[in-house]
Amino acid sequence: MADLREVTEVLIVGAGPAGIGCAVALEACGVEVQLVDAKGVGASFEGWPRQMRLLTPSFHSNAFGGVDLNAVTPDTSPADFLHTQHADGREYGRYLRALVMHHGLKLDAPTRVTGLALGEDGLWVVETDRGTHRARFVIWAVGEFGRPDLGGIEGAALCRHNSGVGDWDEVAGEGERFVVIGGYESGIDAAVHLMERGREVQVLSRGEPWGVDDPDPSRSLSPHTRDRLKRALLEAPGQVRFYKNANITRVSKGESGYELFDDEGTRFASVTRPILCTGFVSALEQPMVRELWEWKDGQPVVSEGADESTLMPGLFYSGPSLQHRGMLFCFIYKFRSRFGVIAREIAERLGREWEGPLARWRERGFMMDDLSCCADCQCAVEAEASEHPEVMEYAERA
Ligand SMILES: Cc1cc2nc3c(=O)[nH]c(=O)nc-3n(C[C@H](O)[C@H](O)[C@H](O)COP(=O)(O)OP(=O)(O)OC[C@H]3O[C@@H](n4cnc5c(N)ncnc54)[C@H](O)[C@@H]3O)c2cc1C
Repeated sequence: MADLREVTEVLIVGAGPAGIGCAVALEACGVEVQLVDAKGVGASFEGWPRQMRLLTPSFHSNAFGGVDLNAVTPDTSPADFLHTQHADGREYGRYLRALVMHHGLKLDAPTRVTGLALGEDGLWVVETDRGTHRARFVIWAVGEFGRPDLGGIEGAALCRHNSGVGDWDEVAGEGERFVVIGGYESGIDAAVHLMERGREVQVLSRGEPWGVDDPDPSRSLSPHTRDRLKRALLEAPGQVRFYKNANITRVSKGESGYELFDDEGTRFASVTRPILCTGFVSALEQPMVRELWEWKDGQPVVSEGADESTLMPGLFYSGPSLQHRGMLFCFIYKFRSRFGVIAREIAERLGREWEGPLARWRERGFMMDDLSCCADCQCAVEAEASEHPEVMEYAERA
């Protein structure tokens, strides 16, 4: 149990890319940091399906100023460390653990944070399953992987969320035909894995996410996923059917399998357990912290100056739920651009020198404080028309 008399300068909840990236930047400024994680370093990645890989590519271009897209410090490269372009979860977990060891970051044995409150003395009181911590600043970096979004579907518990898949070989062993609900990155990932195993797949989605052509990769399929889908369609044509505008609202179990109903009550049958690829819930929505942030139009608000709660000074957020000016920071290369900004703010308040120590963070795009550059990422050259898979209107299916 932590000693109540001890006060940590910064307590970081979550030892994934966001927590570790902030810890290294703070450590560079001589700030004392304590990391706590419920399951250990890189636990979310360890929980990925065995075959799942980062869709953002890694390449060790650091020496030419283009830092590896999956690096969480300005002078490391997962490509160089792991010798692979699209690391799987276990590999990426090894990269994170190497950083913790290299920097000698302080990390408790697995510790789950259960409560967070600002004490009257201005210190944060952090309740955990192993005792209480007190800290001057807290960075909330708990990620999203542990909180699947069930898409508001009644009976969702009958389905399998893709975050609960350990191995696609085992899932494929359950039948010949599968229904995937959701057609964005995770939905296409699931469909491709099943097609590669010779299974028939029907992808049902609200809207038509696989057809979106947006310059922001947070809003359209990544090139890696498009390549995988193209390959799977060439090698196994006819094995997948895409249905757009399918708003599935209820799932039930009948005698011969599962029944899916849309908002008009029409029925779609599946012999195998439907696979939900309906995303994840924001890290800021957990009941324990929800009230600690301001919410506008259903979105959490953090300061543009340093991703700090606008209600509770001293509480910062780092990770993929970050949004500014309508831009999503959901990839590592996006949210890492704020590590230097958060570290600078905390170092400054603690009276520490940050300019020299964080120079590398600024030079290499890890201290992005001009958010106007995010507002327009339109490519100067119009995108070429791309081929889309054959799609059926859900309501008009035979
Ligand atoms: C399926 C999926 C695929 C993705 N693919 C990519 C990709 O290819 N490229 C990319 O850039 N991004 C990708 N992302 C975005 C992804 O969110 C980030 O890559 C990354 O995992 C986020 O880092 P994080 O540190 O915020 O969260 P995480 O890596 O999830 O780390 C959070 C940590 O917090 C811990 N924790 C949670 N609750 C508590 C608690 N109460 N107390 C203590 N510890 C706690 C967890 O155990 C975990 O270790 C993907 C996300 C998902 C969900």
